[in-house]
Amino acid sequence: MIDIRWKAVSLLCALSAICLFLWLISSATVALSIFSIGLLIYLAGHIKWLHKLHIWFKNPELKEIPEGSGVWVDVFTALLKYERSNIANQAQLSSALERFNLTANAIPDGLVILSPSNEIEWCTTHAESQLGLDLATDKNLPIVNLVRDSHFIAYLYNETYNEPFKLKSWQNSEIIFEIQLIPFASKQKLLICRDTTQLEKVDAMRRDFIANVSHELRTPLTVVGGFLETLSDMEGAVPEALKNYFAMMQEQTSRMRRIIEDLLTLSTIESSTEEPDNNEIDMGYLLKQIQNDAIGLSQSLYQGNNKKVKHKIHLDADPTLNLSGAQDELHSAFSNLVSNAIRYTPKGGEIFITWSMQDEQPVFSVRDTGIGIEQKHIDRLTERFYRVDRGRSRETGGTGLGLSIVKHILIRHQAKLEISSEIGVGSTFSVVFPKTRIMHKQVTMQA
Ligand code: ADP
Repeated sequence: MIDIRWKAVSLLCALSAICLFLWLISSATVALSIFSIGLLIYLAGHIKWLHKLHIWFKNPELKEIPEGSGVWVDVFTALLKYERSNIANQAQLSSALERFNLTANAIPDGLVILSPSNEIEWCTTHAESQLGLDLATDKNLPIVNLVRDSHFIAYLYNETYNEPFKLKSWQNSEIIFEIQLIPFASKQKLLICRDTTQLEKVDAMRRDFIANVSHELRTPLTVVGGFLETLSDMEGAVPEALKNYFAMMQEQTSRMRRIIEDLLTLSTIESSTEEPDNNEIDMGYLLKQIQNDAIGLSQSLYQGNNKKVKHKIHLDADPTLNLSGAQDELHSAFSNLVSNAIRYTPKGGEIFITWSMQDEQPVFSVRDTGIGIEQKHIDRLTERFYRVDRGRSRETGGTGLGLSIVKHILIRHQAKLEISSEIGVGSTFSVVFPKTRIMHKQVTMQA
């Protein structure tokens, strides 16, 4: 196709040539008049097609594109091609979008896309029915206006989404959803809402079973333990040759009792749907108590050795910082971590208990100079009965359930456990609480 510039230039050249010829055979006036009239007709033609183009742009319909004349035939043909490919692209895009919508709506989990400021941008029909949303009216509204659960709001603003969050349906409290937020692109979030009611039921049955078995075993074991103790205490009741066996039986019975107690504690904490108490805990007092218990445990572990304290146990607690939570539960979690530090630190080692603000969050941490833990075990330590060294755990009276109990207590307090360790150097277990649990204590200056 000839370039439209050449078409326009050749038309003007032809007009000029005709006028020159007229000038030669007639006069300059005639030639100039013909040239001007020709130019006017030429311009009028352009104005006409420009006007048609302008009208078409106001309502661009494919079949309404003008045909044009002269150079305008090329312009309108190019426009027609462009418009056709545009329509084809649009059709492709909308069919891709429709397929995406169909696929997304076929996923049984509800999906919601949130803007950086947590407004609903898009959601699937499952998300609409699960969370009580209506995309038609709720688009661009903040999700916290529609899902008003205070824990969900805290989870959303906390911005650490490693663990999913459990949400009871507001329409039916028997239905439990698991909410997982996944940040993507520039601070947008994908919210996945999964109905875990059935899984929760199975889990509750498992917990009930363990709790019931533990409960049933508790009484016979107490009786057996009691008889063994009475027989051992009775002069001459146990023949000398059997005394060792008796001691072993007593040791194993008390081990089983400890396991049962821990299993019961774990299932009580796990199955509790109630919020933990949010009382102000006097951390200075609580940690002093834990330090004293630790000194006692350290002594008892090395009883044969003159009852001397075998670990140096340091305490450094911020006197102005208190915590809100359930005192009994947190006492048990902190004691578990301190007792582990003692049990896995050889005599002569040191334990550092600290309570302070770190990166604007309250942190309880226990550092020891003990045997340390290989990196590959760290992620699994909070699993039930997971032990790095079974022998050592048993020797020091461990049940393998301590860190599972700690984990569940911390989940109830929206806190997280961070573990760092090096073999032969020691371990640090830190509990990081959310800022919302800080309570400032007034320290009175003494004269
Ligand atoms: P246990 O009753 O066996 O101590 P826990 O659940 O308290 O069970 O701990 C799980 C495992 O984690 C322990 O068996 C031990 O191997 C390891 N562990 C826990 N704390 C420490 C520590 N401070 N130093 C070294 N290993 C530890």
